[in-house]
Amino acid sequence: MKIIISYPPIESTKGTPLLSQNRQFQYFKEPTYIYPIVPATAATLLKKAGYQVIWNDCIAQGWSYQEFINFIKEEKPDLIAFETKTPVVKQHWRVIDDLKKLTTDKWRPLTVLFGDHVSALPEESFQNSKVDFVLTGGDYDFLLLNLCHALSKHKLSFNDTEPGIYYRENGQVKNTGQFKLNHDLNSLPFIERELTHWQLYAYKNGNYKLTPGTYIMSGRDCWWHRCTFCSWPLLYPEFRVRKVDNVLDEIGILIEKYHIREIMDDTGTFPVGDWLRDFCSGVIKREYNKKIYLDCNMRFGALNQEEYKLMKKANFRLILFGLESANQKTLNRINKNLKVEEIIESCKAARCAGLFPHITIMFGYPWESYEEALNTWKLGKWLLQKGYAHTMQATVVIPYPGSPLFEECASKKLLKTLNWEDYDMKHLVMRTEVPEEKIMSLVQSMYKVSFSPEFVIRKLLSLRDKEDLKYSIRAAKKVMGHIFDFSK
Ligand code: SF4
Repeated sequence: MKIIISYPPIESTKGTPLLSQNRQFQYFKEPTYIYPIVPATAATLLKKAGYQVIWNDCIAQGWSYQEFINFIKEEKPDLIAFETKTPVVKQHWRVIDDLKKLTTDKWRPLTVLFGDHVSALPEESFQNSKVDFVLTGGDYDFLLLNLCHALSKHKLSFNDTEPGIYYRENGQVKNTGQFKLNHDLNSLPFIERELTHWQLYAYKNGNYKLTPGTYIMSGRDCWWHRCTFCSWPLLYPEFRVRKVDNVLDEIGILIEKYHIREIMDDTGTFPVGDWLRDFCSGVIKREYNKKIYLDCNMRFGALNQEEYKLMKKANFRLILFGLESANQKTLNRINKNLKVEEIIESCKAARCAGLFPHITIMFGYPWESYEEALNTWKLGKWLLQKGYAHTMQATVVIPYPGSPLFEECASKKLLKTLNWEDYDMKHLVMRTEVPEEKIMSLVQSMYKVSFSPEFVIRKLLSLRDKEDLKYSIRAAKKVMGHIFDFSK
């Protein structure tokens, strides 16, 4: 059985879609490519089980739509699987229907969709396209393997497949039940980096100071998993983490075999407590801290000064924090379980330990006044200008289907549109008391802080080597790109 795991081209004047492994979809003028860890694990699992697997990320490869279609016609895969997300799901339905038109007497490609959008609304894709299967939940690597076993044995009754698979039978959409996250992450093979074209994701990524860089995932996905705007708790309502030694062994291979110099762990929130301490000690004992930088996602208020110091000793560098609001009312309302003061304390503690906090700031909550949005803007600016935050990203809040925020907005009639293509951060999709232009201008002007004299002087004074200089130049280009991303 031949399987293609694909990111088909998304041809858009809005920029390059950041679709892979992304909790918040955006088109970028200055592209960045994130290693899609779960699809790459799916490819590896399938290959190890004896299937012929082709990795085909047309977005990262810059392919045109025609190149993609020609490639599929030539390869004639038995099954094509894509990850999808709300703003591009309609385009993926068109792709699926185009692929079905390629059917010949001897070849009929099967299509599979997975991701947060189709986990929230699995039946919608059957109604709007000729898709054959939808995989729900976040363990779609395990589920895709299970599906391929079922298909290759021609057991299409699905009586013995895992829960979470949607399919058609006699013109009706059926499913195998609610997905379960009962798979052991330690049983997964390490990603076959050649198979999944690791170099595509090793350079053009704003998180890396040193290249080649790469991604891993120590856990799925976030131990808090309760923020109401976040769509990934839908995929991973429970948290699981790999054993420390399993993660360390993978890092060892990345250093020795691929000469990786920086690793971003894309677990929604990196594990804390004993796991973090054992991990840092293991990194130091194996002397990986002398060879690579480590980056991770973290929650404000989760760690103390000693833990940040230990992370620094293990050569962690960038720590990504979500700064969703500077208003306690909003933090409570989105169930962030955080006090505003903890934002400042955590940034200071991480920075004092020698780490580099990256803050992702959000604007556009329906209940926030302009003054409240401005509070967030001011806090972001202050953290950047004081050097407590090193870099930042600013976006508008998008309530993705399946998230509690989407449900809340739908029930209160706060959604301006249900056209999924509008959920791409180019516009607000929630009704707000603040006019959209004012919110967009706050987002844009947040990026402009990076060009303020105080920020620039601080950056120049912090340059230590040519890698710092190259990183700062790349970061400045990214910031310019983001200013255009949010321009009209
Ligand atoms: S802490 Fe981050 S990853 Fe976890 S639920 Fe909240 S937004 Fe999502």
